[in-house]
Amino acid sequence: MTTTLSFEALGLAAPLLQAVQALGFEKPTPVQAEAIPAALQGGDWMVSSQTGSGKTAAFLLPVLHSLHLENEQNPPARLPRPAKGGWVPRNAAPAAPRAVVLCPTRELAQQVAADAIDLVRGSRGLRVATVVGGMPFGKQLADLQGASLVVATPGRLLDLAERKQILLDAVQVLVVDEADRMLDLGFAEDLEAIHTLCAQRRQTLMFSATFAPRIMRLAAQVMREPGRLELATAQDKHVNISQTLHWADNLSHKRALLDHWLRDVALEQAVVFTSTQADADMLADTLQQTGHAAVALHGAMPQSVRNRRLQNLREGRIRILVATDVAARGIDVPSISHVINFGLPMKAEDYVHRIGRTGRAGRSGTAITLAEHRERHKIRAIEQFTRQPIAASTIAGLEPTPPKPREPKFNARPGQRPGRDGGRPNHHRGGPGRPGGGRPEGGRKFGGPRRDAGAQEG
Ligand code: AMP
Repeated sequence: MTTTLSFEALGLAAPLLQAVQALGFEKPTPVQAEAIPAALQGGDWMVSSQTGSGKTAAFLLPVLHSLHLENEQNPPARLPRPAKGGWVPRNAAPAAPRAVVLCPTRELAQQVAADAIDLVRGSRGLRVATVVGGMPFGKQLADLQGASLVVATPGRLLDLAERKQILLDAVQVLVVDEADRMLDLGFAEDLEAIHTLCAQRRQTLMFSATFAPRIMRLAAQVMREPGRLELATAQDKHVNISQTLHWADNLSHKRALLDHWLRDVALEQAVVFTSTQADADMLADTLQQTGHAAVALHGAMPQSVRNRRLQNLREGRIRILVATDVAARGIDVPSISHVINFGLPMKAEDYVHRIGRTGRAGRSGTAITLAEHRERHKIRAIEQFTRQPIAASTIAGLEPTPPKPREPKFNARPGQRPGRDGGRPNHHRGGPGRPGGGRPEGGRKFGGPRRDAGAQEG
């Protein structure tokens, strides 16, 4: 996934080149080779790229390079020392970062901030802070002192701006990561507000899985004649991820198929995706009872619990994470060998993000999707979106019952129309409290975005 171009040829500041080398990145990935020179040249850019393609460094490196240049031209006054124990002096000036990266989820923000910290390790005078909801304000405010780059979720950033604890007028570059997910989560108004607060900036970079019309409308609102870089898109095949589909008769058949895969000797760590928060809790409990080191992760949990569980996953203390789509982006754990779709995603594009949790950093991965026949239309939607079929296969002893042949076409008298379900009872309408029902992650159907309510992002 790399190119023939070298990082040196991109003209990045020496400490950044050293950091890249220390991370073991030998050559820029295609998105880096395209986006870094474009961003360095100036102007606004929209970039579409595949998950796991190295896009984080594709925006962090040019942003950090420009912060280096600014530091050279205007050496910053002595950096205030980070306050200990989350204490901020009463007379401290509000934080005034020069670059802001916006992420849709707290997990993604924390991952991006961790990547940024790795990249500024050898740089003097560059400090990175993370601003996400669900975490105590005190430590975040202390970290913000003297931070030049802030990685944030929109809700908490706006809260701090409204309290005048952060000023956004000095922001030179604004990056919107995963813009499509931002819109899914109802952050359009927050983005507009942040756009207004960072009015002095000279550059906006927007990364998105697609350039769908809604993304183009957002770009028209917050960017100035952006250039477009269309790299590998969601439709490109993940060559290093083997994708398999198993048809299941019902929930217990799905559980048996899941159990089969969780016993696969090649499985190092797995993320098992469910459709709802309730399903994630229930399935994690069931797996624990059957002896699997599994925990749940979803947006209704306190952020501290989410963080701890992710850290345990990173450090190999848990083998199986049962998660909603809150984990579909931003988790970068190379030892995740398997992604299992126990519940199908709400949106076809989330399938691509989910399976992108495996096969990272050049490794190979396995993506298994379990679907009931009644979900055939959802599988078709995924296949249409990715423009590739998912090969169905069976496991000896766990074969599905062949689907009944289609009933003969409704033989209606003129003017009479068949009922929606062909008269058959629908056993599968989920609702809260029923298996398959409960609350899906993310999509806010009603009302506007909710800030920092704990259950959602912000
Ligand atoms: P991302 O798409 O930014 O989430 O990156 C996916 C993975 O690729 C992360 O583990 C990065 O550390 C890794 N990565 C990013 N750039 C490079 C590179 N130039 N060479 C090798 N690995 C990279």
